[in-house]
Amino acid sequence: MKMCSTPVHCPKCGGNNVKSFGYSAHNVPRYFCCNAECETKSFMLEYRYKAYEPGVKEKVVDMAINGGGIRDTSRVLGINKKTVINTLKKRERLSSS
Ligand SMILES: [Zn+2]
Repeated sequence: MKMCSTPVHCPKCGGNNVKSFGYSAHNVPRYFCCNAECETKSFMLEYRYKAYEPGVKEKVVDMAINGGGIRDTSRVLGINKKTVINTLKKRERLSSS
């Protein structure tokens, strides 16, 4: 499909069958993966380059375990507070199952 040609790759499936999907509250462009088999519905490139950088998730968890507050963690790692919370939530879900 022609409308799905954006030079952006989906962080989940790596496909470039991606179209733009408006903007987030912080004016970050959002994208939508057109791959029907991909679980990603929409994503933002900022996540890909910050929170999903290799090692960042581990650092978030590390700081949380060592008593670093969410505010400190987000400041030190340069990522959004919400991203910190989501990362910790996702981890909880993974370890409890
Ligand atoms: Zn995808």
